[in-house]
Amino acid sequence: MSDPSVADKILDVEKIRKDFPILSQTVRGKPLIYLDNAATTHKPASVIERVRKFDAEEYGTVRRGAYKLSENATQLYEEARQKVADFMGAEKKGEIVFTSGTTQAINLVAHSFGKRFVREGDEIIISNIEHHANTVPWQVLCEERGAKLKVIPVSDDGELVMEEYEKLLSSKTRIVAVNHVSNALGTINPVKEITAKAHAAGAKVLIDGAQSSAHMKVDVQDIDCDFYTFSGHKMYAPSGIGGVYGKMEVWEELPPYVTGGDMILEVTLEKATYAKPPARFEAGTPPITQVIGLGAAIDYLNEIGMDKISDYENTLLEYGTQLFKGIEGVRIIGNARHKASIISFSINGEHPSDGHPHDVVSWLDRDGIACRGGHHCAQPTMIRYGVPATTRASMAFYNKTEELDALAESIRNGFPCGFVAL
Ligand code: PMP
Repeated sequence: MSDPSVADKILDVEKIRKDFPILSQTVRGKPLIYLDNAATTHKPASVIERVRKFDAEEYGTVRRGAYKLSENATQLYEEARQKVADFMGAEKKGEIVFTSGTTQAINLVAHSFGKRFVREGDEIIISNIEHHANTVPWQVLCEERGAKLKVIPVSDDGELVMEEYEKLLSSKTRIVAVNHVSNALGTINPVKEITAKAHAAGAKVLIDGAQSSAHMKVDVQDIDCDFYTFSGHKMYAPSGIGGVYGKMEVWEELPPYVTGGDMILEVTLEKATYAKPPARFEAGTPPITQVIGLGAAIDYLNEIGMDKISDYENTLLEYGTQLFKGIEGVRIIGNARHKASIISFSINGEHPSDGHPHDVVSWLDRDGIACRGGHHCAQPTMIRYGVPATTRASMAFYNKTEELDALAESIRNGFPCGFVAL
């Protein structure tokens, strides 16, 4: 078992936990143990307070008003865009387009890029371990355009089979869309290599960064991808905000997705001309308060430091992996060499109903433990590993090794009973 004190040397987790008001509550008389961070993360007090202050004292519409409140709100909104650009290593602030999150971001790219560049007979490549948000929009696009969807296979350990990926690439490939981190398995994909190979074949690349943005240092220029998506609610920011980085020269070639106010240069009754990116892709009044909250969340992450965050979460991953491997009947699904702090597992008992993830998570909830049981919006991944669902513990830097001990203990206690749901 790895030494839990290693984690303490990286971060003062007790101090960090005090920043998150929600974590101090009890659930069914037990301290809340929140291990569903891949679904959504909690907010530090600094984000909650920034949002309150903005709404109470500074709120105004952006990009429209010529009065003080609006001018100030516009400045804060654009400052938040700059913070996102710096956080992700973008060259220009205008390369960041705000959306409601990764789902809308991928739909935007699939729609706009597809309309401009994808024709009958073309090919799009995804992988076998994508979230439905990075699967269904490409399926729809292929159906509409008569294009073909190709899929990078995955090894038994949960790693993309790169030799097969190379075979799929050809002059017909228009775009490769893969996640940086799989939400179902935790695999960290070699996105820089994937991008270089796609570019060599003349294809563009979208990286779904929903699970990576708040867990490791991301540098979009180093990866060299054409698009990189993120979701604020998985980055300690409010829900309803996220976005997509895109290279400016790629954005400039794309038509809008949603149309209406604020994305135009000029409108007559006959036609409209469009604004430059990012405004071209941000029609309508944006989620102003949420953008300000996202900026505050990035300030908070920067203060702790992304390198420290990923080092700390790695120790949790190592600790939890060894712990769960030691529980009889537990099978970890996803054993890639490079993983983020996500542990997916199934529990096989003698009775076929033993350890169904829905029963397991109901059992864990009795002990105040919030884990996710289900297909994690990655049904093709579940099919690949021959399970209908898994139980998933996903860690953040406010989790501690003792919480993983409590999870292991609760599993051990539940296992002999077949996790009867209450
Ligand atoms: N991609 C991945 C890898 C995800 O984990 C998620 C959220 N679970 C999404 C896409 C969709 O993100 P959102 O719901 O924030 O749009």
